[in-house]
Order: sequence, then structure tokens, then C-alpha cells
Amino acid sequence: MARYTGPVCRLCRREGMKLFLKGQRCFTEKCAIEKRNFAPGQHGKDRKAKIVGYGLQLREKQKTKRIYFTLEKQFRNYFEKAARATGVTGERLLQQLERRLDNVAYRLGFATSRRQARQIVRHGHIRVNGRKVNVPSYQVSVGDQISVKDKSSKLVVIQGAQEFSSHQTLPGWLSLDRDKLSGTVNALPKREEISLPVNEQLIVELYSK
Ligand code: SF4
Repeated sequence: MARYTGPVCRLCRREGMKLFLKGQRCFTEKCAIEKRNFAPGQHGKDRKAKIVGYGLQLREKQKTKRIYFTLEKQFRNYFEKAARATGVTGERLLQQLERRLDNVAYRLGFATSRRQARQIVRHGHIRVNGRKVNVPSYQVSVGDQISVKDKSSKLVVIQGAQEFSSHQTLPGWLSLDRDKLSGTVNALPKREEISLPVNEQLIVELYSK
């Protein structure tokens, strides 16, 4: 299963904003955006060209892809599925990204970042309706129960993530039993419930050309 393995802070610096890809570090002064908020590379500090039209659309797509740690082919597949579905294409696209199992594990506070969530899914620590699912892109459905495997609930990484996320707001479409480390998908996420700094309409325009 292909995935991006390069330096992630560069991705934030390219987008000129925090994408929160590294968990706790993103909230400290060690964050690269706090220290070097300019594009990576030799000419990163040079005067920025104004981004318009295609450039804007491309940046929104890249940003979204990077937030959810998906590669181009898979992202494009999400778009094509969204375009075929009824409803607003942009919202459908974000809905599919949000319904990824690694994202849901992150939203439930079982990991401090989507990248870490992807790893705990791959390592078999997550259950869907009591059964092991180790596919990060697995799409959860309404009524699904997402939980941490009993034996894994004491893992430092999961305990740490629970503590870290205890002050964060749970999205309205999910509910969580903190003691049992088990969450439920109560509904499909609506756009206003997906906190994401992207303009999905620009992605739709980019792919619709
Ligand atoms: Fe992005 Fe987090 Fe790195 Fe800051 S620490 S640049 S928010 S990944």
C-alpha cells in the first residue's frame, strides 16, 4: 500500500499553513510553521508569486490530499465516485475522506494525528463492530462501532492520544464511550461538521476541466 514517506513539515510549509500532521508537536514552538513560515527549498524565501486560477485550485487539492494522507490516484477515485453520486460533489468528496477508518480513529482520539491513526489501524489495534480491520481507507458506515482492541487499550500511544484529545470537541456525527474506548458512527458527516480549512469547490472545478 503506497503512502507518502517524506518529511511532513515541508508539506505544511508548501501550503503556508499548519496542516496538523504531526500531533502534539504541531502545538509547540517546534512547529516548522512557527519557525520557518516560508516555502521549502532554495528559493522558498523569495518573494511569493500571487496564486490565481489553476494555481489556487491545485493548492486546495494538494492541501486536502496531504491532510488525509492520500495519494493522487486514490484521491482522484474519491472524486470520481463523488461526481457519480447524488448531492453536492464537493461535500460527497469530503464525506468519503472523513469516513476513512484512519480518520475516524483520529477523530475519536485514538491517535494524535491521521498519520499515527493510519499506523494503529495497519498494526491491527482497531476493531469495526468487534472485528479486526487493518485497512486505513476502509469506509465506515452509519451504525458502525469503532473500538480499540482490548489488549491494545493500555498502549502508551493510545493512552497518550486519549489524554491529548480529551480537550478536543468530538464531531457531531460520532459519539464516544471514553471508558470503553469505543465510538459509534451516528450519521454521515455534513459539511458544517467537517472542520477543514479547504474550499472543496475549487477541487471540483480542477477535476471537472
Ligand atoms: Fe505542520 Fe505539525 Fe510540522 Fe507544524 S509541526 S509544520 S503543523 S506537521
